[in-house]
Formats: sequence, structure tokens, C-alpha cells
Amino acid sequence: MTRGVAFPTVRRPKAGGGIHAIVYSVRAARKAGGIRATYRALRSRNACKTCALGMGGQLGGMVNEAGHFPEVCKKSIQAMTADMAGAIKDAFWENFDLEAMGRLTSRELEAMGRITKPMYAGPLDQRYRPISWDEALHRITRKLIATDPRETFFYMSGRSSNEAAFLLQVLARVYGTNNVNNCSYYCHQASGVALSSVTGSGTATIVLDDMEGLGEDDVLFLIGANPASNHPRLMSTINRIKRRGAKVVVINPLKELGLVRFRVPSSPTSLLFGTRVADEYLQPHIGGDIALLTGLAKRVLENGAVDEAFVSTRAEGYEEFRASIEAASWEEIVEGSGVPRAEIERVADLYCRAPNAVFAWAMGVTHHTHGVGNVRAIANLAMMRGMLGRPRAGLLPIRGHSNVQGIGSMGVTPRLKQAVFEHLERQRERRDRRDGAVATRA
Ligand code: SF4
Repeated sequence: MTRGVAFPTVRRPKAGGGIHAIVYSVRAARKAGGIRATYRALRSRNACKTCALGMGGQLGGMVNEAGHFPEVCKKSIQAMTADMAGAIKDAFWENFDLEAMGRLTSRELEAMGRITKPMYAGPLDQRYRPISWDEALHRITRKLIATDPRETFFYMSGRSSNEAAFLLQVLARVYGTNNVNNCSYYCHQASGVALSSVTGSGTATIVLDDMEGLGEDDVLFLIGANPASNHPRLMSTINRIKRRGAKVVVINPLKELGLVRFRVPSSPTSLLFGTRVADEYLQPHIGGDIALLTGLAKRVLENGAVDEAFVSTRAEGYEEFRASIEAASWEEIVEGSGVPRAEIERVADLYCRAPNAVFAWAMGVTHHTHGVGNVRAIANLAMMRGMLGRPRAGLLPIRGHSNVQGIGSMGVTPRLKQAVFEHLERQRERRDRRDGAVATRA
């Protein structure tokens, strides 16, 4: 077997953000067709291909929901330049059989370029070979026809368009299955279930301006999330609010470099001197979040810092919640969370002094069997101090892929929203009346 194809070497970054992010972005743009071509692609009216913090769309590329330009990060450039890469060369398929491909890393495979034609490897094949689109579609449909729809599963990533999402779920349902799912079911389903039980809606309660508006003594909680790596433009927001005197509390078992210190590429001072991100960094045991959040709530009670007007007029079940917090002993809290009492009290005191607070979280909170309980504990801590339903205060599940909201709304979920289901049913009845009662497989 001959290798024949050279692989780029990859250096591990030493700091969060900074010059590395800029160098990487320039290199990637040059490789993908040049800085001008990459800029043109980034400026197109497309939503950012990467995370759900939100950029682009109808406001135009590199513009955020507040209309601010330029707004872009290394991850966005990484995704865009990967999509601008040329086709995988035929030499690769000739030189690499299945076994050899299996030894390549995902980074090495991605560096090969894009798959631009259907490639097939059957049970007797040693390597992938190109086939026509007709043959590809024929093979897929033949397989679907031969399979019981109940034994199929239609999965979609949140990087897809609304149009493709709608078509995929309709295809699955006409074919005869509701085994339809999208990536957010694995990431933030716990947030969706918990928030629906608290506010009646499974989504964030704040908009970008609420976070950008944090100032003197306000607090941003970052729980089980690493935006320095996964939502980099959030770091420029953090840099701005910190300059106005806001405090950042990070809760994460892992000490993430970028959440200790980050160099925001778009800010000269931060790029040169770095931004201290966390004012407090709590490292609970993995799975110790509820105990830690109970401890924070207990200290809020002990400080008499509860927003009585909010909990008595805008919340239900506060008395049971208060009793459960009072019943929890500090010994249980410290043991369950793995965080010393003094640290919990210090952070709770900071929270009690905060005029406004935003709670943001990601998979570190949701990827637990008690993920729903974790999110509810965060919401309870917020409601204790009335941090809900007003400017500069609220709850933010930091979502992963850029269009998770869209594909969920398009019906890529096991259970269709009632309104979507009824509309599709009406469409089907109208069509059946027009064509005379043709039974579907659904
Ligand atoms: S932070 Fe997220 S939405 Fe914003 S540019 Fe980066 S990847 Fe795109």
C-alpha cells in the first residue's frame, strides 16, 4: 500500500484565543482560496455554520443579532474554510483502502478535502469507489423499501437548513416512522424539559443585549460550559462586561485555560495583555452541581437576600423549595458538591450583591441522568433573587449547532408540535380528497 499524500502537522495551542486564533484563521483562509474569497463567503447572507450564539443570516455574514459588525471567530472561519475546501483527490481513494482510512485521525481526514460525489463500499469491497447519483439513490431507496420503517432512525445535525430539515422529517413520516431526531436532543433536551416546566418555554429567557448590558457588580454564571473553545465570540462579550465591572463565576470541574485567561483577538488590549475571565472558579465533583446550587441557595436564604416580591407573586412552589434548602445540611452540601463551604459562601455573597445576573450553561449541566434537575436548580437559584423576566437577568442554555432551534421548529423531533402535525394532516386530507383516498404508510 503506498501513502502518496502529505499530511499537515498540527501544533497544540498554549493559550485561550489570542494570536494563535488569528494565525490559524489567516492560514485556513489562505488554504481555502485566499483571504478575499473567505471574506466574501463569510459575508454571505448565511447563518454562521458553527455554534448557536448567532451570527449572520438575513443581517448578512459577520453581523450579530444586535447588528454589530464585524463579528466572527476562529470556529466560524474553520467551518467556512472546511466547506470551501476542494474535492478529495481520486489518488486518496486509490491509495487508501478501508483499513488504512481507519488509521487516520478525523483531523487528517478533514484535511483531505470534501466528498463531492457518492462513494460506496459494499460488504466485499476493500475500499470506497465512486458511484453515480442514480445508483446511490437507487441503493438507498431499495434498502428503505426492504426495511421495516419501525427499524429505521432519521437523524439530523443542527447545521442543516430549515428547508432540508422540513423535507427530511416529512420524508420519514411519509415513509412510516416517527424515529426522527436532531442533535439538540442529545445536548439540551434536559434544558428544554426543565425550562418548559419553569417558564413554559424550552428556550433562553434572555437576548444578547441582556448579557451585553451587564455592568458594575452584575454577575454572569458560566456553568458546565467552555465558550472560550465552543462559543468564542461570547468571550468578547465577557471582555466588554468585565471592563464595565461585571463579575464572572465559572462552575466547572475542569480548570479550562480559556476561562482563566483569554486574549480576545478583536480587542487590542485583551490581545496584548489578556483578559482575566473568572473572578471565581468553583470546581465541583462531576455530578455535584445540585449540591453546589443548593449551597448557593442556602447562603442566599441565610443572607436574607431572597426577592420576596418575586417569589410570592411570580413563582409557585417557593415554600416547598425553601423548606428543602433549609433541610439540606452544610455537611451534605460540601460532601455532595466537593466544594469547600467558604468558597460557596463567598460566591453566594457575590451573587447576593449583584443587581443583575445571567446564568448560562451547556453540556456539563445537561449530560447527566439528573440533567433536568440541574437546570431546575439553576432556575430556582435565579428566581430566588428575581433574576427572570426582566432586562439583564435570566437563563441561557448555550446551544451547540447554529440551527438547532430551526430544525426543531421544522419538525425534526420524535413528536411533532401539535400545530405542525394538524397542518400536515390537513395537507394530507386535502391531497387525498384531490387524488381519491390513497393510504399512506404512516
Ligand atoms: S461564536 Fe459561534 S455563532 Fe459566533 S461566529 Fe463563532 S461560531 Fe459563529
